[in-house]
Amino acid sequence: MADGSFAFTPAVEDATAALWQKVQGQVTPLEWRLHAPLIAEINRLKREKNAVILAHNYMTPEIFHGVGDFVGDSLGLAREAARCDASIIVQAGVHFMAETSKVLSPGKKVLIPDLRAGCSLAASITADDVRLIKARYPGLPVVTYVNTTAAVKAETDICCTSANAVQVVEAVAREWGVDRVILLPDEFLARNVARQTEIGIIAWKGRCEVHERFDASDIAELRAAWPDAEILAHPECPTEVLEASDFAGSTAAMSDYVARRKPRRVVLITECSMADNVACDAPETEFVRPCNLCPHMKRISLENIHAALLEERFEVTVDPAIAVGARAAVQRMIDLPAPAVAARYDLVKARHHVDVELI
Ligand code: SF4
Repeated sequence: MADGSFAFTPAVEDATAALWQKVQGQVTPLEWRLHAPLIAEINRLKREKNAVILAHNYMTPEIFHGVGDFVGDSLGLAREAARCDASIIVQAGVHFMAETSKVLSPGKKVLIPDLRAGCSLAASITADDVRLIKARYPGLPVVTYVNTTAAVKAETDICCTSANAVQVVEAVAREWGVDRVILLPDEFLARNVARQTEIGIIAWKGRCEVHERFDASDIAELRAAWPDAEILAHPECPTEVLEASDFAGSTAAMSDYVARRKPRRVVLITECSMADNVACDAPETEFVRPCNLCPHMKRISLENIHAALLEERFEVTVDPAIAVGARAAVQRMIDLPAPAVAARYDLVKARHHVDVELI
């Protein structure tokens, strides 16, 4: 390891054998010989430094299955991190997720392997924008998707995820005694939520650059090529995509659908690595993959996770005053009763046109 690389020794092969069993459908033997030594070293460093790695669903399988201690969506990861007694959290995800982890775990050191790992949705809106929106719509509650910066969360009343957005919108409207709610910043999530509720939605023009690229013609082509495939779409996709799909739900709801229903062939209309990671646990299902890559998520690699842990770089901090407001918005969401099952979007309702007011 004089040149900084690690060798695929028999000890490494032995230490990573169970992980190889899990990912071998998604990772080639040649790739594994490169990944396994780093995985073994990262897992050793975690023990030495009392660190945990939070791996988002959009991480590649060698990260998600190889070094992730907690895996899942951004909020689930941050909540798990807050509960554990680790000293260091490495966020294998994007910057707003690391901020959420810091907000919920102020006493822990939170590291992100690449500071450039951003998000088009989080970048679409600032705290100043939210202040202007509140001035324009006084008396209406502001619900913010967790895919936002801590500064934006701090300006808002309550957070939501794609799994609970409908529930949060209805709960906050009841609490405030209003029939309209401001839901920021994802336009498509807002439009899709609007079709599921009687509450009027005021929306912002933020987009996830991964999900906005899908359109109805993609679904039509998939249907023609794979008539027996079940098509599952994420609610950050345009409404026409949900209308044409067989199921719509959050990342957790999509995983849950595959695990429970074991479809013979499935298409996940979302980020590419999601299908790879779900496929590791669903050998009986064939995955058709018309996926889009998130360039921000793909900045995270085993190499920079290793460097982050070794050098304890790049630390993510949140101004304490902002953290207080952001934590309150997240906590109000957490305090709502958890849904009994992972949220799904009713496709009958999803096919009925309901307009939103776009700011
Ligand atoms: S997939 Fe979309 S929402 Fe998630 S980090 Fe990438 S750009 Fe942001």
